[in-house]
Amino acid sequence: MSEPLPLILESPRRGQPPRHWADLTPAQRREYVEAAGHRAFRARQLSSHYFEGLRTDPNEWTDLPETVRASLAAAFMPELLREVRTQTADQGDTVKTLWRLFDNALVESVLMRYPDRVTMCVSSQAGCGMACPFCATGQGGLQRNLSQAEIVEQVVDGARRLRRGDIDGDRVSNVVFMGMGEPMANYKAVIGAVRQLVAPTPDGLGMSARGITVSTVGLVPRMQQLATEGIPVTLALSLHAPDDELRDELVPINTRWNIDEVVNAAWEYARQTKRRVSIEYILIRDVNDQAFRADLLAKVLKRRGNWGWVHVNLIPLNPTPGSRWTASRRRDEDEFVRRLRDKGVPVTVRDTRGREIDGACGQLAATDTDA
Ligand code: SAH
Repeated sequence: MSEPLPLILESPRRGQPPRHWADLTPAQRREYVEAAGHRAFRARQLSSHYFEGLRTDPNEWTDLPETVRASLAAAFMPELLREVRTQTADQGDTVKTLWRLFDNALVESVLMRYPDRVTMCVSSQAGCGMACPFCATGQGGLQRNLSQAEIVEQVVDGARRLRRGDIDGDRVSNVVFMGMGEPMANYKAVIGAVRQLVAPTPDGLGMSARGITVSTVGLVPRMQQLATEGIPVTLALSLHAPDDELRDELVPINTRWNIDEVVNAAWEYARQTKRRVSIEYILIRDVNDQAFRADLLAKVLKRRGNWGWVHVNLIPLNPTPGSRWTASRRRDEDEFVRRLRDKGVPVTVRDTRGREIDGACGQLAATDTDA
């Protein structure tokens, strides 16, 4: 095996993007608007333009006097994401966008339409410090944490695309933190962004917390903290192996918080929030897809009781460039599913979207050569 990559938990200290409306709480918005010399009620008008109208162009803020439009726009609506490229796949149902940030960092987001929902897959960091060897993002290390507004803006862009009719559907119903980065390593901005997504309009996008999924490699203290926030988002835990020896290799942070600890934290999250936790498990041929591992996975999960606290989501591996691993054989996948079902563990196999545009799980790896 090649030299393992280092784990990076702290974001390198870099310049932060300019302050944006979506970085502020409703109280701060009023306060800052007044501090900038405007009447406090302008805050509500601005929120309504941004979160309901999805309008950042001051020329469209026709209920505001022209003289105040430019100054409010300059103070609160800086451009945070510049579109570098957009690609579509799956007959137009999957749209991947590459963004350039203020400091030239690159991130990607993916909008996916399904018959019953529209899901926005967002990035929480530029790069990732978790160093999982099967994941394209993990190979480049961490550049920096995204700001709260840089996360919200990805969702607002998806909403705008729907409104323009680039993709069918009436609104973004689901947001999954499964793009680039480890959301629990950028906890404050991620929770702040989630609060903006679920705040009723016009203070936020008015989404349901149930439609939001935060996926993590298993930073236990943060999982515990998430359970106390009072926002019942869905927690997804990227387990990928039922035994520590293998998980140490596949998800290196396991050397800090092992399977027993992360599964306990997931169970606690389900117990406290009454939200069923999703266990993510990539199927990698002859690495973690053996029948005995399916049995062991069922055992690990059922040890915590059998009251429907958990659901297993199997993900066929999306091979990344240079990877020595490939997806499981069909019969091994079927047997893995059968064994979990036999033991009463609810399980589904994820349909992977956007493979041909490298937009599927684990394939997001924006680099300068992309741009
Ligand atoms: N850091 C978080 C969220 C981003 S990754 C986490 O790891 O959970 C979102 C999901 O995609 C995770 O379950 C991750 O393990 C999975 N993934 C990463 N690389 C993949 C690949 N090459 N094929 C399939 N899934 C992958």
